[in-house]
Amino acid sequence: MTRQTLRNAAQLCDRNLIAPAERAAVEQVAARYAVALPSALAALIDPSDASDPIARQFVPDAAELEQQPHELNDPIGDDAHSPLEGIVHRYPDRVLLKLTHVCAVYCRFCFRREMVGPDKPNALSATALAAALDYIRAHGQVWEVILTGGDPLVLSARRLRAVMKALGEIEHVKVVRIHTRVPIADPARITPDLVRALKLKGKPTYVAVHVNHARELSPQARAACAALADAGMPLLAQTVLLSGVNDSEEALGELMRTLVECRIKPYYLHHADMAHGTAHLRTDIASGQDLMRALRGRLSGLCQPSYVLDIPGGHGKSPIGPNYFVRTGSNGSERVVIEDYNGQRHAYPPPALD
Ligand code: SF4
Repeated sequence: MTRQTLRNAAQLCDRNLIAPAERAAVEQVAARYAVALPSALAALIDPSDASDPIARQFVPDAAELEQQPHELNDPIGDDAHSPLEGIVHRYPDRVLLKLTHVCAVYCRFCFRREMVGPDKPNALSATALAAALDYIRAHGQVWEVILTGGDPLVLSARRLRAVMKALGEIEHVKVVRIHTRVPIADPARITPDLVRALKLKGKPTYVAVHVNHARELSPQARAACAALADAGMPLLAQTVLLSGVNDSEEALGELMRTLVECRIKPYYLHHADMAHGTAHLRTDIASGQDLMRALRGRLSGLCQPSYVLDIPGGHGKSPIGPNYFVRTGSNGSERVVIEDYNGQRHAYPPPALD
């Protein structure tokens, strides 16, 4: 397979991924938000299926031109916690280190869509990277560094090796985590050289792979993930709950099981963020909770992610249920009730037996 990336309406039209009648609107979307659809993902799309879950995530849609009043430029509030270029320090024990604004694919629901794309500054300059590393060195409470972006794995093995080496030499940094879509979007980039570059001596490198539908785990994507796992890097999955992509019990359950079969532990199920032009892909929280209830008890505990929301304004991530713990009673007679996965309630501690 050639590794061509589709980057504009004309190319998408030539590949039958949009209709000629949609071309003008898609050109407007592409002028506003970055577009890239690598061949590995384009090959997974069924152009005859108007609701193909892969196309829905990556092929631009005229609906992106519609903005809702509550949608934000920076929905998770990175800027509010950025003490210097390339660093986001929201929680005490960890920082994000954003090495690049480029991605292998541009997801149509991206929470950083105003910041990512080839027309944005490409990578941290050497000076800015040195300052970011100095910041981490100077903050002894930073236990974990999360490489994110953009997508850090679009960078060369040489650049990544240098960053990993610098992080590995910081005594108080015990864990490095990499957030990436590359094993799914462009699995050919996961070469033995790149895998070696990500490994640290005596410290773990976790790789959090962004996957939203079981069909994204193509044979090539599975091989790329296996190469990372075989090299000793624990794999996690981050999934965004998306309308028309994975918001059914069947689609979400199949995804979670497929991830675990690929040695990828489902970590977070993100409620979609309020990024501009993404209302058509968002669900409501109540349906997300119903889906989580449907997974609980029916799928192995290994297949259960945490359902979380990044609170707009930079207030961090919170689990958003469902909640199985209920307090009842009043006037000092408080009781605790636990709901089971069938929705039945049980007093805790249980009533004494005669
Ligand atoms: S790979 Fe991540 S940062 Fe890049 S467009 Fe997709 S969601 Fe956004």
